[in-house]
Amino acid sequence: MGKRSTSTEKRLRWFDDGAPMLRLVANRLGIGDWLPIHEEYYACPCCLMAYNRAAVFAGVLTEEHVPAAVVGGRGLLLTCKNCNSNAGRDFDAHAGTRLQADDFARGKVTDRTLPATSYVDGIPLRGTVRMTRDGIQMFGVPKQNDPKTMAAHFAALDAYAQSGITPNHSFTVHTRYDEKRARYSWIRSAYLAAFAALGWSYIFQDVMEPYREQLKQPDTQLVPTYIGNDRSASSSLRRILLVTEPDDLRCVAVNLGTHTIFLPGIPPWRPQTCDELVQAFSRYRGDDERLNGEISGKEVSWPRWPTYLLDRPPAPNHPEHPMNSDRCFPR
Ligand SMILES: [Zn+2]
Repeated sequence: MGKRSTSTEKRLRWFDDGAPMLRLVANRLGIGDWLPIHEEYYACPCCLMAYNRAAVFAGVLTEEHVPAAVVGGRGLLLTCKNCNSNAGRDFDAHAGTRLQADDFARGKVTDRTLPATSYVDGIPLRGTVRMTRDGIQMFGVPKQNDPKTMAAHFAALDAYAQSGITPNHSFTVHTRYDEKRARYSWIRSAYLAAFAALGWSYIFQDVMEPYREQLKQPDTQLVPTYIGNDRSASSSLRRILLVTEPDDLRCVAVNLGTHTIFLPGIPPWRPQTCDELVQAFSRYRGDDERLNGEISGKEVSWPRWPTYLLDRPPAPNHPEHPMNSDRCFPR
């Protein structure tokens, strides 16, 4: 028998934690016969397809990063291979490119190069740009340029260098991404973080169904793409807040860096649908996607590992449920 990799060990532990919780919640909701009784099953939180433990070894249940790996996320839970790779292509790639463009525009020094065209007196040179400590570095890529145009570009630069006059220089960075798809990547990550913290009981609420449907239909807008944005927030900020104030904004607010994603709330209040939430937020929405006024509530510890807080017995509305204990809420 071969030695199990640490990746397999981790995924097995995620399976062994999540499967009994799924069974417990399915029984509580009266849908227990959905799962075969002779072995444990874990459902992909995105598509709700249930898989047995062998799916971990087969690589069908995969490590999912929250937020997406391309925007600096870390492995947090299991999703199915299909959902994981589809999201990478349909959503996360867009969030990654958008972040690179944002970083560049803000002058953040990174080792990434971006495709760009540089102009001297309007004469183009195609290549790449990179933000360095000393400023922007432009590199021409010969095979992307007509040799005559490239020669004219450098001749114009040389002429400026010899005359000592500051060149008439500009450049355009070519980053292509779909803003909606980039936003769905962040919304999907928030959904998964809320699942990891709160559990199956949270995502089995009817109001969560449109989010899963949206992930299956990247070309159709089913869920509003509203995301709060606070440019002053640290990119490493991770927070889950069960919002109780203002009263009409009761929801689950997930902070991922500068982004705040607002998801439906939890019992005992009736959770708002995604459309109702966006309606409510339109009353508080300021310029530049910042919120006017403060939101407050109970903070849930950011899950380093799925914690399934709402799933743990006794049932969530019971006074002794862990969600009602202050121990769960560090602040
Ligand atoms: Zn799936």
